Amino acid sequence: MYKGIAASRGIGIGSICVIVEHELKYEAVKVADTEAEKKRFLEAVDTFKAETSAMAEDIRKRIGPKEAEILEGHLVMISDPTMAGEMGKMIDAGQCAESAVEAVCDMFIGMFSKMDDEMMKQRASDISDIKVSLLKLLLGIKDIDISKVEPGTVLVAKDLTPSMTSQINKDNVVGIITEVGGKTSHSAILARALEIPAVLSVPDVTTLVKDKDTAIVDGTEGIVYINPEGDVLSKYIIKREDFIRKQSELKSFLGKPTVTADGINLELFCNIGTPKDAKKAVECDGEGVGLFRSEFLFMDNNHLPTEDEQFAAYKEAAVTMGGKAVIIRTLDIGGDKDIPYLNMKKEENPFLGYRAVRYCLGNRDSYMVQLRAIVRASAFGKVKIMVPLVTCVDEIRAVKEMVAEIKKDFDANGTQYDKDIEVGCMIETPAASLIADLLAKEADFFSIGTNDLTQYTMSVDRGNADVAYLYSTFQPSVLRSIKNIIECGRKAGIPVGMCGEAAADPLMIPLLISFGLTEFSVNPVLVLTARCIISKWSKAEADDLADKVMGLATEAEIVELLKKEAKE
Ligand code: PEP
Ligand code: MG
Repeated sequence: MYKGIAASRGIGIGSICVIVEHELKYEAVKVADTEAEKKRFLEAVDTFKAETSAMAEDIRKRIGPKEAEILEGHLVMISDPTMAGEMGKMIDAGQCAESAVEAVCDMFIGMFSKMDDEMMKQRASDISDIKVSLLKLLLGIKDIDISKVEPGTVLVAKDLTPSMTSQINKDNVVGIITEVGGKTSHSAILARALEIPAVLSVPDVTTLVKDKDTAIVDGTEGIVYINPEGDVLSKYIIKREDFIRKQSELKSFLGKPTVTADGINLELFCNIGTPKDAKKAVECDGEGVGLFRSEFLFMDNNHLPTEDEQFAAYKEAAVTMGGKAVIIRTLDIGGDKDIPYLNMKKEENPFLGYRAVRYCLGNRDSYMVQLRAIVRASAFGKVKIMVPLVTCVDEIRAVKEMVAEIKKDFDANGTQYDKDIEVGCMIETPAASLIADLLAKEADFFSIGTNDLTQYTMSVDRGNADVAYLYSTFQPSVLRSIKNIIECGRKAGIPVGMCGEAAADPLMIPLLISFGLTEFSVNPVLVLTARCIISKWSKAEADDLADKVMGLATEAEIVELLKKEAKE
């Protein structure tokens, strides 16, 4: 049995096909006929572009626009005059096309991989993908055609690049195992979109297996078996049937309202990162957007997006949601989210530093731009403003004053907006939790950010593997905090939602029902799972369980009880 990262849920059982990496060997010779070499290079670039755009088109049709964006990104990068231009210059200077491609790509890979930001690191892997494709074209190397593998295949590769993943035919590939890649890598995103079970980062897997070995890929637990014993195989065949049955049961929740077993109506919203994700929220039957992480708009740009650019993005989300709520969180940078062009100071303790609303209130001109864009977008749907990382009443008051100023200005110049636009508060710090009663008097709504609330309550860096054992929303301290926030919101008569990952946790859902949470905001792909779990609990049952849970002293006891009482 091998352990890896559970990247795409489900059980796949099949016959292995190892995707062999070709050695991209060439001699870095000096060329005399630079014109002919340049022509060879440009032909390879043209073929790369043609093949990539055909793959992007295919993936858009078969999987979706979001997934096609990865390959479209490759096209943008290779079409950028800087990269191809640098390669051209090196060829003009007498280098062969292969070494020009390798040197320039390696330079960019080195640059991006040194950045702390996860998105920027991903660029390094995109460029590495481009490099390999270009070198293969130049060296005339043809890979195995993944689109033609036998039905029942488990693909095993060092890494599954987007271009490889795009060739996957979902009817033939039942599982994916790789040696590298994490939950947020492109191969993970694509595997999830294709709903193919995947386990990533299994050390040396390509050398541990051979073609035609039997593999079990447990993408839910992150476990792989190679040539399993008969009893393991039978157990997993049953598990696979069980998973498939549950998935198809979930489809029956499409188009249904979100109600508890005793008929309490709740709201089930989605977390999104780009306006295009709003389409996914609609497709997945989300009832609104509970968190639009606006920082992606800033991170995907090389300049501060202008008011019009931001307005267009927020409007697109509002229009796509067709009048359903769209809660836009204002810029939440700092901590683990860096925006290189802002040249923010390196800090000793970035998670405790000049970030999110603190940074925005310290840079009011650019914050004004964002707030104006959001208020303008409110004319096109039910847009709300949400302020991240609030720790004191002054912050929410300051934002409300800025919004009031914008409204006055818009009234004076006739700009349309929703006069009742709400300004809410993320509750994701212990400080905000402790003064939730005071904040509830100022904010129109709360949304609990459990990802940070857990980090700050437990004093554990949410990305540090060494202290990950303490990072649990089921710690008694975090649960007490959540309960208090919801109670304060209820007492003040404002709605309380949750947009941290815990909102979709099947073990957490009954506790949230009991505490009185009214809005759950989850990853679009988890909407139906959350709706299904909610439908199984009545308030009385949830209260009963919550009473017992809140009397327990340790996280382990709490999780054990919740697992025992979980409704399948
Ligand atoms: C949170 O902290 O729970 C949250 C939703 O925000 P983010 O994960 O973007 O910090
Ligand atoms: Mg947060």
